[in-house]
Amino acid sequence: MPLTINKESHMRNAILTVIAASLLICTSAMSAPGEYDIKTTKLADHIYELSFDGGGYTVKVIASVGVDGILLVDTGKKQAAEDLRAKLRTLAPGDPKIIILTHEHAEHLGGNELFGKEPVVIGHSSLRSILKQGAFLYEEFSEATLPDIGLNDSLSVFFNGEEIKVIAVTGSHSGSDLVVWFTKSRDACVAGICNSPFFPSVDEETGDVLKYSSAVQRIIDVLPPDVTIVPGHGTDCTIVELRKFHDMLFKTTEIVRSELAKGKDIATIEKEDALKEWKSFEGSYTSANGWIEYLGRGFRKDPADQRPFPVEPLYYALKAKGLDSALACFQDLQKNRLDKFKFDETTAAYIGYLLFENAKMPESAGFFELSLKEYPDGVYKELCYRNLGIAYEKTGNTSLALKNHRKFLELNPKDSTTAKAIERLEKE
Ligand SMILES: [Zn+2]
Repeated sequence: MPLTINKESHMRNAILTVIAASLLICTSAMSAPGEYDIKTTKLADHIYELSFDGGGYTVKVIASVGVDGILLVDTGKKQAAEDLRAKLRTLAPGDPKIIILTHEHAEHLGGNELFGKEPVVIGHSSLRSILKQGAFLYEEFSEATLPDIGLNDSLSVFFNGEEIKVIAVTGSHSGSDLVVWFTKSRDACVAGICNSPFFPSVDEETGDVLKYSSAVQRIIDVLPPDVTIVPGHGTDCTIVELRKFHDMLFKTTEIVRSELAKGKDIATIEKEDALKEWKSFEGSYTSANGWIEYLGRGFRKDPADQRPFPVEPLYYALKAKGLDSALACFQDLQKNRLDKFKFDETTAAYIGYLLFENAKMPESAGFFELSLKEYPDGVYKELCYRNLGIAYEKTGNTSLALKNHRKFLELNPKDSTTAKAIERLEKE
């Protein structure tokens, strides 16, 4: 997915878009066991789809369960890992023996720390290095959970009585995309390469929107006509529906290419509703205008947009000397290193989000407060109020928790979770 300020990515404008959308409704970083309702669907004789609401979008994990044990495709969100393990144990005893990671986005490998130490972990050969840099530093994956086997092309795994073909189709949705095809069961996990029936998201740091259409065509060419396509977030579908998804990608890419060639800018193309015929693909985390923006950025690579958010220096500053040092580092880089790092409305909120998602509550509060100070009426104010309320509550600061919960409730009067939190705290 999505990262999202994603998810499901990162920072990566695409991921940011998704995260920005999901942040406002996502569940707490400190989820309690049982909080995630994991739905199980049997796809074939021994193939199960485990799905849950990742915060406004579906997240899927596939399990092959049989005489050889459990093989998992992806490990879901970190916060849902305990619930996922409990559900898996209703299918078979023990933990997975093999894990195949479809790509790098957090909601697909968040359970690695819980599941990934003992089993053999398979991923794209780029995945190890991706997980040791940038925003992934905040996840602090241990060495034992990183891929043991990497591939650039394809490999086969023989497990539970069938050949599982793992095929690298990399560089469109992200830099580590794999397709996992259960050849006998006729199910193919395609993760971010298909988001049918919705517009997809793109990790603009490691993926490439302009390669999306050809990546999907490659899947269509490789897979048999009767296979069930299992997207990481979209709806399970047939090859016929995958062709419709491909048709949308190909034609919308050509529309935006053609409009830009006429000298129009992105805002004009959006205003003219250039993708009005494709509105039926809205409904998940990318709107028609969002898709125009992805394509527009893809065609007009602006060097200024390639600057990363300062996630790495801030991670190391936090690690070495704590929050005050990291906040001072933020101010210093913002003042002196705009040539190297991107500072905009997203920056402080994104750092706060990364810390919040990884249960660093006081540190996340520091960055959400900074975001509100810099952009008191910015697009992330709801996210900041909501997560500050939770962060302060988790760290025992009742007065600040109440203040931020109330601010969030003012903006979202129907939010019953926050209303209950206020009621609970007022009784203390
Ligand atoms: Zn993704």
